[in-house]
Amino acid sequence: IFPSSTDAAGQRATLGVLGGGQLGRMFVHAAQRLGYFTAVLEPDPQSPAGLVSHHHIQTGYDDPAGLAQLAQLCQAITTEFENVPAQTLHTLAQTRPVAPGAAVVGIAQNRIEEKARFTACADVSGVSCAPYAVIETPAQLQTVLDERAELLPGILKTARMGYDGKGQVRVQTAGALAAAWAELGHTACVLEKMLPLTAECSVLVARGWDGQVVSFAPQRNVHVGGILAVTHAYEGALPPALADRAREAAVAIARHLDYVGVLCVEFFVVDDGSEYGGLVVNEMAPRPHNSGHYTLDACDASQFDLQVHAMAGLPLPQPRQHSPAIMLNLLGDVWFAADGQLREPDWSAVLRLPGTHLHLYGKVEARAGRKMGHLTITGPDAASVTTVARRVAEMLG
Ligand code: ADP
Ligand code: MG
Repeated sequence: IFPSSTDAAGQRATLGVLGGGQLGRMFVHAAQRLGYFTAVLEPDPQSPAGLVSHHHIQTGYDDPAGLAQLAQLCQAITTEFENVPAQTLHTLAQTRPVAPGAAVVGIAQNRIEEKARFTACADVSGVSCAPYAVIETPAQLQTVLDERAELLPGILKTARMGYDGKGQVRVQTAGALAAAWAELGHTACVLEKMLPLTAECSVLVARGWDGQVVSFAPQRNVHVGGILAVTHAYEGALPPALADRAREAAVAIARHLDYVGVLCVEFFVVDDGSEYGGLVVNEMAPRPHNSGHYTLDACDASQFDLQVHAMAGLPLPQPRQHSPAIMLNLLGDVWFAADGQLREPDWSAVLRLPGTHLHLYGKVEARAGRKMGHLTITGPDAASVTTVARRVAEMLG
């Protein structure tokens, strides 16, 4: 545990984060509430987290001087940017506690390794991945065509750097597979069978250095165009037995990975009549996640609070959700009128509705598809938050 007062050398206990986006901003806010100073390493001079942090180290993620400065300032370091070079985390870990660790972040950065690990612990997690094949060579592509016809129709996904539905091509027929792989630049991929999804959900788990684990109840997520649009977080958003299984699976995965920090595990819910037992593990994010933003307003400890506690070695409170909630992402599209003119939405009208909690990330420029903020609606029951969420959706178009 780090003291939050000034030490003999006049330094303040400082927590560091790699990446300056909105996740970093909300992490910084949570760390500051506990009296910590914060340091953000992020090249953009106007980043959401850099603007609110005590220290902003404005270098690239692999800049030796920037990393040395971060290590010198901070008692512990985390990442909000999933694609931070694994070597960066290795370097920092030489001198400072880094959570999550380089190895597990490396696994989450690569769908091939990620699926291999999910498969390796399927007996303890009780969940499997969608049927898939690795395609890294023309020979593997041919093997899929010859022997894995059951994977089509499917989705070809790049092993690395995919997010918000980017780096994916839907493949209907065997004849279209080679062209899809060419479209993705013949980079390492996985071909995944297209499953009949009835829903998607995610679970946030936090695990400490000592192995203590706490978790939030699973939330149901709705994606539009590959980007998270809505999170439903209230009792009844998911069938209870399924929610229990998802939560247990996520905890088992965090333990299996010897994970430290906040981990988000995403699941598909598949037609119950299927051979997959209703629940399929999709992917994981080695950090707080957009689907957990509702925890800021609806729970007595947020996912960002837990990240601070986990990395700083503080006890992890088992979070309690006190209000049913719906989270609506606010993409830059909402900032543009039908005529294409930029205009800030009328937040006053939104905030007049009961239980609305507006979060804006302070991004300098609104762009279509860009996450500008989110709105959490809390209320006494699921029906009332649903009614308000509908009203907000109408207002924002
Ligand atoms: P990303 O890294 O972009 O989030 P995902 O693998 O989570 O990539 O895919 C994005 C979305 O595409 C999912 O949330 C889901 O809606 C859909 N999707 C992905 N894989 C499948 C699949 N095997 N079957 C059906 N839908 C899928
Ligand atoms: Mg996803």
